Amino acid sequence: MSEHYGKHFVAIIGGSVAGSEAAHILARRGYRVVVFEQRKLPYGKIEDGLPKWHIGLRNKEEKAIDERLNHENIRFVPCTRLGKDITLNELIHEWGFSAVILAIGAWQDRTLPIQGIQKFHHSGLIYQNEFIMWFNHYHEPDYEGIQIPISDGAAIVGGGLASLDVVKAMMILTVQEALRTRDIDADLFTLEKKGIKSVLDDHNLSFKDLSIKPCTLFYRREAADMPLKAKKDDSPASSEQARRVSAQLLAKYKEKYMFNFEPLTIPLGFSTEDGNVSEIQFQRVRQEGRKLVPIEGDVLHYPTELIISSIGSIPENLNSVPSQDELIDTHGELSCRVAGFDNVFAIGNAVTGRGNILESKRHGRNTTEQIIDTHLDPLAEKFKDWFDDVKSGVTENVDEISRALENAAVQSDDIIEGILDKSRKLQVEAGYNSSYRDWIKAHTPVRLEDLIN
Ligand SMILES: Cc1cc2nc3c(=O)[nH]c(=O)nc-3n(C[C@H](O)[C@H](O)[C@H](O)COP(=O)(O)OP(=O)(O)OC[C@H]3O[C@@H](n4cnc5c(N)ncnc54)[C@H](O)[C@@H]3O)c2cc1C
Repeated sequence: MSEHYGKHFVAIIGGSVAGSEAAHILARRGYRVVVFEQRKLPYGKIEDGLPKWHIGLRNKEEKAIDERLNHENIRFVPCTRLGKDITLNELIHEWGFSAVILAIGAWQDRTLPIQGIQKFHHSGLIYQNEFIMWFNHYHEPDYEGIQIPISDGAAIVGGGLASLDVVKAMMILTVQEALRTRDIDADLFTLEKKGIKSVLDDHNLSFKDLSIKPCTLFYRREAADMPLKAKKDDSPASSEQARRVSAQLLAKYKEKYMFNFEPLTIPLGFSTEDGNVSEIQFQRVRQEGRKLVPIEGDVLHYPTELIISSIGSIPENLNSVPSQDELIDTHGELSCRVAGFDNVFAIGNAVTGRGNILESKRHGRNTTEQIIDTHLDPLAEKFKDWFDDVKSGVTENVDEISRALENAAVQSDDIIEGILDKSRKLQVEAGYNSSYRDWIKAHTPVRLEDLIN
């Protein structure tokens, strides 16, 4: 290990899959690293985006993050948000970090493209990220986030994998609540695993008996176009097979979780009543090749009190950081260097989110037929691919960053002392007073499975 490495302090913003992987690689090479994380826990999408029924995958990935971050060369600074508690300018010019790596993921929901509807955000309109965040945590006794009404007949606008999680979660909650009114206690994990249809059959009940309406998933294309099955290659036969399997998977999902599906519908307008959304309208379209053509005069009116928009996430706008095509703009000589900066880099979903989906599609394991047979959750496989892709991409990025640092002037002892002091102060402000392990133990929330057991 070179002495030279110990003379560089690197700041990483975001401690999840990408941030922890980068921190660990750098720390093992002897660099010193400060990981700034806006939340108490560094688990990002794993804790707040992966629905809480994925217990095994969540625990495994979170443990892996802990193992990576719990290193003597890494200082973890929780509850510290770039853009609010610290700025990029301060980190570069006042703190004097050799490099800043942005690993902030993609947390900003794309705005639902219906004119004027944004005014009704939280009055009948919510977005996927806040919905899953609430879904994952509302059972915690000290939960303080927004509350979302459990609403039968919700309209979910989407079509990607995340929208399937949303519709499934809302259906489970709706049915669970309706069953409670009949003193039937069906827990979330049973409803998820067995499926709603099977649980209702066990009790000889229907939606009509329970007086509930199913949720509806609206998608601008056809079921076969949903990205549920990766193509093996670019041949027409492979495309056709992927389309067929995607349609089959969606049909299975619909049957198991009993939601409705409206393909070829594009959000068009909405109505309100007493300050809340009361209806959403969609333009029906037909597909001509990849082109969507509106069918004149064919508008679908869907009365609902809740619209959940799940049309994709992009990195949050950091003002000081340039973006291109919705992602952080990285180009130039190094593939992960942020445009306009010498020593600011970006990794993970913040830059490669959509690319990784394509990557993981290309490398997608050929398990879908198996999934259909075994009724496993296709999204669980997808998540594993995503996590693995992010990690392997980060390794290449960190090699590049490390090479760039080889030629950079080392930091003076004063700068290093200053970084140690300032990061310690922020840790104390956050209440972080002992070790990484103690902090994680104290702040890991109560798990629903433990409450149930
Ligand atoms: C619903 C859903 C959709 C997914 N979609 C994709 C996808 O499209 N592509 C894909 O590759 N993978 C996707 N995944 C898989 C998975 O999210 C990613 O592979 C993985 O989490 C990305 O890791 P990351 O570290 O880049 O981002 P994240 O896991 O999102 O972590 C970012 C971290 O940065 C922190 N942070 C953000 N902003 C700041 C700030 N200003 N200051 C300090 N800290 C900050 C966050 O709190 C978080 O801890 C998805 C997962 C879910 C659950």
